[in-house]
Amino acid sequence: MADEAPFPHAYPKEFDTELAAVWYAANYFYQQSYNRIGETTGVLFKKPSQKFGFTYRMDGGFLGAKVRWGDVPQEKGYVITAGWHTHVPGTRFCEIDRDGAAALCFAFGLTDGLMQEFRSFSSDDTGLAKDATRITHRKISFYLITADMIKRYTPGEQDKMWRKAVPSKMVGIWHENF
Ligand SMILES: [Zn+2]
Repeated sequence: MADEAPFPHAYPKEFDTELAAVWYAANYFYQQSYNRIGETTGVLFKKPSQKFGFTYRMDGGFLGAKVRWGDVPQEKGYVITAGWHTHVPGTRFCEIDRDGAAALCFAFGLTDGLMQEFRSFSSDDTGLAKDATRITHRKISFYLITADMIKRYTPGEQDKMWRKAVPSKMVGIWHENF
């Protein structure tokens, strides 16, 4: 059953650890998010078998993570452990041709190009994890994914960050310096 999606929006693969699951999601889903300039979001969960899985939704906007905790049927024994989402650097607007891109490009050149703000959790992001933690009475983390890093926020703990290789299909597409 390992390669079947157990319920809608679940990815049909299971993992030994939460980090392995989010790492896979990062490599598999970041490029689509980057191309679309929109956040991809999902929920990390533990199966009754103690293996981990994740859900995914590729419909987020540029700002704001719409994590649907309700995608995981907890009544069936699946336990939510964390959420995950992508951030696309605002400087990506510089690469596309659309109205207003020039002004946005300039603004993001400062916040994302210079200050790397897209690598940080927003107050909405941390609020999401805090709310989920309060409601479930368990610590629910929230992961932030870019092409080359994974960051974890857990209420009451230090953020943790892992550097990773850029997904193989994004080599030459993703720029380290915008
Ligand atoms: Zn965010």
